Amino acid sequence: MENMTAINLATCPTELLALDANAPTLWPVLLRKVGVTVSKGEHIEDKRAWILRNFGVDDLSNRLAVQQTREHGGPQDDLARAMIWRHVAEASSPGETIADITAQNMYLLNAFIVAKTKRFASPLDSLRSEGGPKLPLCQNAKCPNGPARVPSSRAKYCSKSCRNVVSRRDGFVKAVRTAKITPLKAA
Ligand SMILES: [Zn+2]
Repeated sequence: MENMTAINLATCPTELLALDANAPTLWPVLLRKVGVTVSKGEHIEDKRAWILRNFGVDDLSNRLAVQQTREHGGPQDDLARAMIWRHVAEASSPGETIADITAQNMYLLNAFIVAKTKRFASPLDSLRSEGGPKLPLCQNAKCPNGPARVPSSRAKYCSKSCRNVVSRRDGFVKAVRTAKITPLKAA
């Protein structure tokens, strides 16, 4: 009878360590994507863990072995390998289909690309860098920049100097208002 704990998924299988230099980093990512829970140094055996143990690990090591052969002992092809890790993660996860990777959704591979500089821009990134078309204008009525759009949805002013100008003016207005409503004390 097969020993149920023959492979402890909590630690990266040794065959993968030999096939991918990034395996120790990518293995926990794979577990998280597949939905395998690790507790006290051991995985919790459930349907996801069973599938990964019985199919996922073999599939992954076969594909990485083919990739390693293709690289001819040269540097690892991070993109090709990210495709492999992601494919196995998707195949071992619930759901029937695996979304194809196209030029538009390359960022789906980011979870399996270790080097930050090699990751792909996501739609969220481009929204952030463009400032987004819907961000409001600077709240400084006398903004010297246009008024310019604020840098984030939480900001009220386009710049530090606009914020300082307004808070100084508000402080003055508040001081005047406070002075007005202070009742005169009888001498
Ligand atoms: Zn401004």
